[in-house]
Amino acid sequence: MATETGAGGPAAQDHRCGFVALVGRPNVGKSTLLNRLIGEKISITSSKPQTTRHRVLGIRTLDRAQIVYVDTPGLHRGARRAINRVLNETALAALQDVDLVVMLVAGTRFTDEDEQVLAAVSRLSVPVVLAINKVDRVRPKTAILPFIQQLAGRFPFAAIVPLSALHGDGVEALEQELLQRLPPSPPLFPPDQITDRSARFLAAERVREKLFRKLGEELPYGLTVEIERFEEGERLVRIHALVWVERPSHKKIVIGHKGAMLKAVGREARLELERLFGKRVYLELWVKVKEGWADDERALHSLGYGRDA
Ligand code: GDP
Ligand code: MG
Repeated sequence: MATETGAGGPAAQDHRCGFVALVGRPNVGKSTLLNRLIGEKISITSSKPQTTRHRVLGIRTLDRAQIVYVDTPGLHRGARRAINRVLNETALAALQDVDLVVMLVAGTRFTDEDEQVLAAVSRLSVPVVLAINKVDRVRPKTAILPFIQQLAGRFPFAAIVPLSALHGDGVEALEQELLQRLPPSPPLFPPDQITDRSARFLAAERVREKLFRKLGEELPYGLTVEIERFEEGERLVRIHALVWVERPSHKKIVIGHKGAMLKAVGREARLELERLFGKRVYLELWVKVKEGWADDERALHSLGYGRDA
C-alpha cells in the first residue's frame, strides 16, 4: 500500500530527472551553454574545433528535478583522421539513451554541417529542442523571427528558443522547456555533484584549454594532455602533466621562444586550478613527442579518447 512519506511517497513521484544531450557542429557554443546552465565551468571552451573531445556530464539539481546535461564533441564532416572518427563516434554514442536533445545552431545561419546534425538527430525518437545561440551577435534583432519560422518548417522541433549562452539571455527559458519534458524519476546523482568527471580530468582539460586558446593559427591539433601525477594534499595540489604532440616541430611551438609559451600556459592554468580546487596548486608541464598518436586507435584509447573514456 502506498504511504504518504518515504521514497515511494508523493514527493518521489513529483520528481523529474533525465539526460539532455547538447549537440551541434563545432563552435556553436555547446560547452559555453553547459557551463551557463550549471553556473560553473565544467567544460572547456575556445573558438577552435576539437576543443571538446569527451562526453562530459553537467548535473543541475533543483527542488523537484535533476537535469543531467551531456556535452558532446561537435559533429563534423570529413573525419579522415582516427581522432576525428573517434570524436564523431563519441558524439553520436552520447545521443543513445538520452531523454531529450538540444540541437544548437548559431546566429541566423544554417550551414551544411547543421544540416548533417539535423539528419542525425531526426533519426532519434526523443523530442528535439532547437536552441538558436549567439543571438547577441544578430543584427538587426528582427532577423531572428524569419529564421525561427524557416527552421520550424524544416523539422517538428518540440520548441525553438533563441538565446545567448555567453551572456545568459534565454537560458532560463530553455531550461523551462526542458523541465516540462523530463520523465518522472528520482534523482540519479547526489545533489552536490555537478559533474561525472574527476579533478584529474578537469585539470588536464584546463591545461588543454589554455593551449588551444593561446596557440593561434599554429595550434597543432594533434596535441593532448595527460596527467601523470595528481596528489591532493590538505593545502596543496601537486600536478605533473604531459603535453603530447606529434612532431618535434610541434614541441617547439608549444614550448615557445625561450619557453615563454609553456610558461604562460602553465601560469594561466595554475591560477584557474587554484580557484577550482580552492587550494594552492603546483603545476609542472612537460612536452613529449609521440608520433602519429592521433591516427592510432589504440594510442587514442590509451590516452582516454573514445567509448566510455
Ligand atoms: P562548442 O564547440 O559548440 O562547444 O563551442 P564553445 O562553447 O567552445 O564556444 C565556441 C566559441 O563561441 C567560443 O569562443 C565562445 O566564447 C563563443 N560563444 C559561445 N556562445 C556564445 C554566445 O552566445 N555569443 C557569442 N557572441 N559567442 C559565443
Ligand atoms: Mg565544446
